[in-house]
Amino acid sequence: MTVTTITEARPASAVTSATGRTGESTARTSKPLLSLRSVARRFLTSRQNTTALEGLTFDVHAGEFLCIVGPSGGGKSTLLNVIAGLDAPDGGQVLFEDKPVTKASPERVVVFQEPALFPWLNVRANVEFGLLLKGSPAEERRAAVDRCLDMVNLRHFERAYVHELSGGMKQRVQLARALAVEPRMLLMDEPFAALDAQTRDILQHELQEIWARTRTTILFVTHNVREAVILADRWGEIVHLFEGDELPSVPDLLDWLSWLHARCPECEGESR
Ligand code: ADP
Repeated sequence: MTVTTITEARPASAVTSATGRTGESTARTSKPLLSLRSVARRFLTSRQNTTALEGLTFDVHAGEFLCIVGPSGGGKSTLLNVIAGLDAPDGGQVLFEDKPVTKASPERVVVFQEPALFPWLNVRANVEFGLLLKGSPAEERRAAVDRCLDMVNLRHFERAYVHELSGGMKQRVQLARALAVEPRMLLMDEPFAALDAQTRDILQHELQEIWARTRTTILFVTHNVREAVILADRWGEIVHLFEGDELPSVPDLLDWLSWLHARCPECEGESR
């Protein structure tokens, strides 16, 4: 059985020094963009009952880059689906700008581990797809696609088809497509987990740059602690998946990492 909790946010200063970030920390005086209150999601099947999420409470403010770490099967995808409005919680509330999330919306776009691209469309048309669904005018679509292709460094491949792209390039297309609709929040579900270490490094770096430029609110789930440390603006929160265990209220980043590694070796991430 899985127990899932989220701790209080770590102080922004600890995150800043630990990651070498000098960027501005997010103002917390405003109302949160997203609020989860005692969210639960249970799956009852003929074979077994699984508690994927239980008593999950946390806020995300506009402009934050929040990483949530947990091992496979820990409820990370379930959490993103519930926030995206693709699934409904059994208990508690998910509020987006104070309103309950009841359905999917282009305001909250999911970026999946496996890029779900259309093989019959070229890169440009894939990126444009969400804008067509939104009914954006042609000129607006052209400008947005240009901007997003530049952002993910794929301008030279705009006429290429999906089968001509590497794994990293496919993820870039998925990211550009998500950014093109200017979502309020990007929900990223281990988007770099299937990539080789070198490509992952490059994409992590590019994602940080995109976030610094756009300040799109990002909620990124990963089983890789290193990835979370590298990427996040705030990662004190963690999905906690160890039954009967209490999360430590550690003020120190390294203590916290050691604590996590001791309980979840698979969360450690690849050595570099
Ligand atoms: P993660 O993304 O962290 O790997 P998931 O959110 O996919 O974890 O799954 C959490 C738990 O919920 C797992 O035990 C999984 O088997 C279970 N689960 C997820 N979706 C379903 C479903 N549709 N039906 C039954 N069990 C599910």
